[in-house]
Amino acid sequence: MIFLTDIYLSGPRVLNPARGTDSVADILIRDGKVVFPAAGDVPQGCEMMDCMGLWAMPGLVDMHVHLRTPGNTGAETLESGLRAALAGGVTTVGLMPNTNPPIDNPELAGKLMRTVENLKLAAAVPVPCVTVGGAGGPLTDLEAFASLGLKAFSDDGHPVMPDRSFRAACERIAAFGGVLVEHPENTALAAGGVVNLGPVSVALGVPGLSEESEWSDAARCVALLEGTGARLHLTHLSSPESVRIASQAAAKGLSVTCDVTPHHLALSHDILQALGSAAKMNPPLRSEESRRELVSMCAHGLVGVVASDHAPHTRESKDIPLQSAAFGVTGLETLLPVTMGVLSGEGGMSPLAVVAMLSTAPASVLGIEIPDLRSETCDSLVLFDPGEEWVFQGGYSLSRNTPFLGTRLTGRVVMTLCRGRVFQ
Ligand SMILES: [Zn+2]
Repeated sequence: MIFLTDIYLSGPRVLNPARGTDSVADILIRDGKVVFPAAGDVPQGCEMMDCMGLWAMPGLVDMHVHLRTPGNTGAETLESGLRAALAGGVTTVGLMPNTNPPIDNPELAGKLMRTVENLKLAAAVPVPCVTVGGAGGPLTDLEAFASLGLKAFSDDGHPVMPDRSFRAACERIAAFGGVLVEHPENTALAAGGVVNLGPVSVALGVPGLSEESEWSDAARCVALLEGTGARLHLTHLSSPESVRIASQAAAKGLSVTCDVTPHHLALSHDILQALGSAAKMNPPLRSEESRRELVSMCAHGLVGVVASDHAPHTRESKDIPLQSAAFGVTGLETLLPVTMGVLSGEGGMSPLAVVAMLSTAPASVLGIEIPDLRSETCDSLVLFDPGEEWVFQGGYSLSRNTPFLGTRLTGRVVMTLCRGRVFQ
């Protein structure tokens, strides 16, 4: 439901990573803007909301999202996906380009941007292909995308190949301060793999995907990046070794960042036998040991960003034998509770640091405005109840292919203010 009246939020804990602040303060949403009112200054006629125990934070940025448009709108549409985003507290998504046709030309990117604008839901930033068709080889018109304000590029679904295209892309992207978002996968090593290589792949009798098939490509990218001056972001890392490669490169002065997904932080490959294709994604869920190490690496600041890799699929492409089922799980609507649960619980991180991984840090990677709960100018905000227990039964997304379906979660988005409009 959308509200356009003014709302007075009384007493939430306000987490604002842009300023490193974490304190209790009243907030007035007036004319769609965030205002920090003087004490006791409650305007007449506005709706009062008791927010004791709730957390207010900036609108979240999920930099890795598949909304299947164009080409597979039976799995998701821009409208359903952006509504799912708002339900999850996400006010900006990065649209991955592996659609059908792929987002490899500025005309399609521009058309998507206009459609998103007209929907007046969450904002969406296309992350166009690096190579034509995302197929490896000749580069797209990177500079034309940059002139539309798009700074992040990816051949997601595949690594950027061959090496000479990767290197040339880095050189051109560096010229306008952009970033190459790599889906790290050594396709020769990964070919035919279904789930993590190990006891579970053996028990299920399916070919395995090794951690090496991920980290060996991360190492390739770092080597090719050197000397180009570009920024590299390694996305959906599942192997601690990949994170080590990224952080060692950053320690050497290269501009390398990375993200992990909520499902790789919260789940291990042990659930595959119970859940089957609902837990099949690429990269796959890893061992419990790797999962724990990823959580610890987040807590130690070696991973800067969490992104959902929201990948909706129709039932027809999931409710089939594991080996032939599509890779990918949905994640927009469970992003915040799952991430907050595992990183502030097991990881021992402060809620403020977790919110940074979901808002300011991904915005900085994408090169978009940093979300900041500044009085009078900010028009996006999330209200989160950290204690509410609920069972996720599917939401606005057209697809329900998630291992968290039917799971009891702690923490729920109560309200999202997005570009001046309140969604509840
Ligand atoms: Zn990917």
